[in-house]
Amino acid sequence: MHRLGIVGCGITGAVTAMLLKQSMPYLNIVILEKSKGTGGRMCTSRSSFGNTVDLGAQFITKSSNLTSTQEK
Ligand SMILES: Cc1cc2nc3c(=O)[nH]c(=O)nc-3n(C[C@H](O)[C@H](O)[C@H](O)COP(=O)(O)OP(=O)(O)OC[C@H]3O[C@@H](n4cnc5c(N)ncnc54)[C@H](O)[C@@H]3O)c2cc1C
Repeated sequence: MHRLGIVGCGITGAVTAMLLKQSMPYLNIVILEKSKGTGGRMCTSRSSFGNTVDLGAQFITKSSNLTSTQEK
């Protein structure tokens, strides 16, 4: 069994884990997250009044060369 640790469960850690698991299903992946929730800077803030606000990545652009390499 091959084991791999990923530090941080923001979008980068989560997508990295998903892509690695897709290409190498035999990998045993553990994601270590220091916060109480996942998502990193993309998170949902909840007020005591019950309102929620989604923070981070309100929009996703295709402006960089990196994103164009991920198109299928
Ligand atoms: C208000 C706001 C609006 C934004 N709007 C947009 C937008 O419209 N479009 C857009 O493209 N981007 C936007 N962004 C930026 C986008 O949210 C971030 O670029 C993206 O979420 C970064 O993801 P990441 O996984 O690389 O890093 P992060 O989200 O920072 O995740 C890193 C994770 O690693 C964890 N971590 C760090 N150190 C350790 C450790 N030692 N051990 C364990 N865990 C650790 C952190 O707790 C965190 O969960 C916005 C950001 C904010 C704050």
